[in-house]
Amino acid sequence: MSRHQQRRDKLRKLLRREDINAILVTNETNVTYLTGFTGDSSYLLLTADDEVLLSDPRYTTQLAEECPDLELAIRTPTINVTELTVKVLKKAKLSRVAIEASTMSVAQKDQIGRAHPKLQITNTIGLVEQLRAIKDRDEVQRIREAGRIAEKAFAVLRATLRPEQTEKQVADQLEYQMRLFGATDRAFASIVAVGPWAALPHATPGNRLIGQSPFVLVDWGARGDQYVSDLTRVLVTGKIPAKFDKIFAVVLKAHDAAIEAIRPGVACQDVDAAARKVISKAGYGRRFGHALGHGIGLEVHEAPRLGGKQKQPLKAGMVVTVEPGIYLPGWGGIRIEDDVLVTRDGHEVLTSLPNDLDSAFVA
Ligand code: ZN
Ligand code: ZN
Repeated sequence: MSRHQQRRDKLRKLLRREDINAILVTNETNVTYLTGFTGDSSYLLLTADDEVLLSDPRYTTQLAEECPDLELAIRTPTINVTELTVKVLKKAKLSRVAIEASTMSVAQKDQIGRAHPKLQITNTIGLVEQLRAIKDRDEVQRIREAGRIAEKAFAVLRATLRPEQTEKQVADQLEYQMRLFGATDRAFASIVAVGPWAALPHATPGNRLIGQSPFVLVDWGARGDQYVSDLTRVLVTGKIPAKFDKIFAVVLKAHDAAIEAIRPGVACQDVDAAARKVISKAGYGRRFGHALGHGIGLEVHEAPRLGGKQKQPLKAGMVVTVEPGIYLPGWGGIRIEDDVLVTRDGHEVLTSLPNDLDSAFVA
């Protein structure tokens, strides 16, 4: 049985528990996860004992290569994907179908409802995402590889960093290097932020020069073979600013405390709390304004979320980022981010780039 077929059967099991007899999967990443098909504009209709991939003629060759075992419904150029969906739903003679409420538009849902008034449409949220949260060995390997690519590219950045470079030049260079090392893409728009701008957790790289501030924050990741990595490091490029080593030490301690707390059965909020406690105790509680981390996989933000009020327990096979930070407006910010696998008896840090203070200094 193929890996994708196994996943579809797992989804069936989950649907039975939720009393759902059919689901229309419209989230493209979920379709890829369940079928292996990497094109867009394609849906999967999955019932208790049937499945059909709705796609279009552009993809005939790719479909034959990526999911030869799947039944296909290919639309003709005269109908759109929603009209094809209605046709397939009618043919399947379903009285009820679940949809993915986070992806399907209201307009599309209305259109299906009008064309097929007898069909009962129910909303679901996050079912396939729940399966995606637990990675198998092959997925973990791909995330690990995406980490290696990001780290090799960062080593080049570190060795070639010059005061006259702009943040944007450094970000572009870093992303190009990741591609040279085997990435198919960047995992997300890289953040390269000097000094005070590092206080903005999502700063956009601009024309500010590396040399105009004593340190720079880099948050980047690679998409390797479909799966992504996500790291953050801060590099000191000039005279070390006041408070830098103290704040760095607090962030690193929070990072390590969180990783120490990671094991199956621990609530996500408790991992977040382990880091937050360290930062609060040092007096910077209000300066850590985001969740500790998030799952990574086919997407850079996926389940689970390591934040307050997240009671769900970690499970073996989850891969999460741990990224505490302290941000002082006008001064800057320090964040340290690594990718961590939940193992059966604890955790394994998948990224391997040094994160100590000494390694932050660019000679
Ligand atoms: Zn990041
Ligand atoms: Zn992240």
